[in-house]
Amino acid sequence: MSKLMKIPAKVIRNEYITPTVFEMDLKPEGNLSFLAGQFVQFVLPDPRNPEKKLKRSYSICSAPETNFLRFCIKLVEDGLGTPQLTKFEVGQEINLIGPFGKFIYVESERAPFFISTGTGIAPFYSMLDSMKARQALPKKAISLLGVRTEDEILYDDYMSSYPNLDWIKAVSRPKGQWDGFHGRVTDYLRSLNNFAYNDYDYYLCGNGAMIKEVKEFLAEQGVEKKQIYQEIYFK
Ligand SMILES: Cc1cc2nc3c(=O)[nH]c(=O)nc-3n(C[C@H](O)[C@H](O)[C@H](O)COP(=O)(O)OP(=O)(O)OC[C@H]3O[C@@H](n4cnc5c(N)ncnc54)[C@H](O)[C@@H]3O)c2cc1C
Repeated sequence: MSKLMKIPAKVIRNEYITPTVFEMDLKPEGNLSFLAGQFVQFVLPDPRNPEKKLKRSYSICSAPETNFLRFCIKLVEDGLGTPQLTKFEVGQEINLIGPFGKFIYVESERAPFFISTGTGIAPFYSMLDSMKARQALPKKAISLLGVRTEDEILYDDYMSSYPNLDWIKAVSRPKGQWDGFHGRVTDYLRSLNNFAYNDYDYYLCGNGAMIKEVKEFLAEQGVEKKQIYQEIYFK
């Protein structure tokens, strides 16, 4: 089988946007065409064995219409890959392979309901920003993000000013006074009364436990499997 081509990309920005999440902007050599929602793999040295490589997947957070690639990455302190990524400096090169994945927006008569935990919001940013760039805004949409603490909320300004979008932040363990929803995304779904579940397609991204729980809940509400799309970041 032929080896996948490595695409060299230059770091043009690498900055924390919350206490534990950083954005990395890359300018790939040539044109890397992808569909909103897809991911690439970063090829890194394996700290356990310098002769080996480590591959880590990251959703492209920016829209295909943007002239660089943005990633939104959570530092896993004891992880092998992310501590290395935080140290990349502007001008350094990193190898990518891809794009991969089938987690893309599918036009339908139903409205999209995007549900994420943490950096799982990245593909939804890409999808929404692409719709904006193409002037193909959804008539209505919901974006529900679950985070532990309020300082981990991502893209608040962008989401709160996006047209026709209900933006809901579920904070499970607020550190201070929190006037928004207090609980996890599943608690939020359970709190809804007379919600028209079948008016939506569900896009789920983030940790596997959340995705499993949400799918069980949606099944109980009579939502069909064909209305649910998912991308699991970790189990
Ligand atoms: C298709 C796909 C797309 C992804 N896109 C993104 C993305 O856009 N942004 C992003 O931040 N991550 C994303 N991930 C997760 C990413 O690939 C890595 O798993 C993550 O960055 C940890 O890598 P690491 O080498 O630092 O940790 P590893 O050495 O691989 O250790 C992983 C350990 O940390 C846990 N872990 C992994 N991710 C998290 C997390 N976010 N929070 C807490 N614990 C975690 C795992 O369960 C495991 O126990 C994606 C994963 C997949 C499969």
